[in-house]
Amino acid sequence: MAITVGITGGIGSGKSTICAFFRLLGAPVFEADLEAKKLMTSSIEIKTRLIDLFGSSIYTQNGTLDRKKLAGIIFSNKLQLEKVNALVHPIVRSEFQKWAQQQTAPYVIHEAAILFESGFYKMMDFTILVSAPEDIRMKRVMKRDKVSAEQVKERMNKQWPDEQKRPLADVEFLTNDTDLIIPRIIEIDKQLKENGKIW
Ligand code: ATP
Repeated sequence: MAITVGITGGIGSGKSTICAFFRLLGAPVFEADLEAKKLMTSSIEIKTRLIDLFGSSIYTQNGTLDRKKLAGIIFSNKLQLEKVNALVHPIVRSEFQKWAQQQTAPYVIHEAAILFESGFYKMMDFTILVSAPEDIRMKRVMKRDKVSAEQVKERMNKQWPDEQKRPLADVEFLTNDTDLIIPRIIEIDKQLKENGKIW
């Protein structure tokens, strides 16, 4: 099976941007957050259990998830958030494993916002933490999503701070406005392809 590389980072850290570069170099990227969203509508198992937890009105008439309603429930209640995570995460993991086995590239990337928080980093061969100072991340997300500083802060508060993630990561990419990232991406890609290692 291909080498697995987990890429994570807080909101606005730039992880999707970095994954886009790896993709250009030929690495298949599994976007865990996107897959989780898709599975909430396509997986019968998830659907049944979400209905058990929150009632049938959590899905709209045409069968798609009422995201606003679910967000309203889970973002104001930690216990409910944990319940949803406990139900969705194992299914996303097994989807990732199935997907990874089908890839022929020398390494694959698992991109997830909460790779460390979920414990899934333990299943990765290598992990990369993408980080940036909080004020920069704040400005990026406010611009990208047209949201207020309070809204960004609220999302940030649900993720671990970088200090907690740092000791668990093999490599860290700091995406401030001065350090050059692309040469490091090229170097890591080369190491993985030639030596099966990240350094
Ligand atoms: P989220 O968890 O919210 O999906 P993310 O970590 O995937 O965020 P990106 O979407 O990659 O972050 O980047 C956030 C914003 O910052 C984007 O608008 C992107 O264009 C910009 N950005 C990403 N990397 C850099 C960088 N190195 N320098 C400046 N801006 C950047």
